[in-house]
Amino acid sequence: MQYVAPERGKIERGKKKKGAGRKAKEDCLFCRVAARKPAGENLILAVSPLALVMLNLYPYNVGHVMVAPRRHLASPGGLDPDEAAEVNAWIGRVVEALRREYRPHGFNLGANLGRTAGAGIPGHLHWHVVPRWNGDTNFMPVLGETKVLPEAIDRTYGRLKKALDGESRRRAR
Ligand SMILES: [Zn+2]
Repeated sequence: MQYVAPERGKIERGKKKKGAGRKAKEDCLFCRVAARKPAGENLILAVSPLALVMLNLYPYNVGHVMVAPRRHLASPGGLDPDEAAEVNAWIGRVVEALRREYRPHGFNLGANLGRTAGAGIPGHLHWHVVPRWNGDTNFMPVLGETKVLPEAIDRTYGRLKKALDGESRRRAR
């Protein structure tokens, strides 16, 4: 139980400078979408009590999904066990939904911590789930070059939303 104490202390300290925290959250894409309902316009595929799932507007590949805790925090060390479990469960469901709908040959799963590591939103921890196909290597972005994806993002949203809802139902049974 001792490891819980520093986290609680951090929360208490955080409360004192509430204004600064609120500003960071307003600027944060994940915090903004966490309050919304899943819809094609906002690219949110699912919101659960502790986690959210959304398509990446700037995908590395077709079906590039991001899974994040709803709480604004930068590092996996700060996740509660319940949050970590929920995020992990979504990563698993997303992989299975993508597998079923897109038949990729492989996946990249990972989080970029800090700008140096490539994080676009370093303040809010999130995992990337990127399906991969044989021969798509030359398709990956080089120095931020714009690339043409073989499927429009609203089409990807529709396919994946359906597959993910099906995956959630399958698990609930
Ligand atoms: Zn946030």
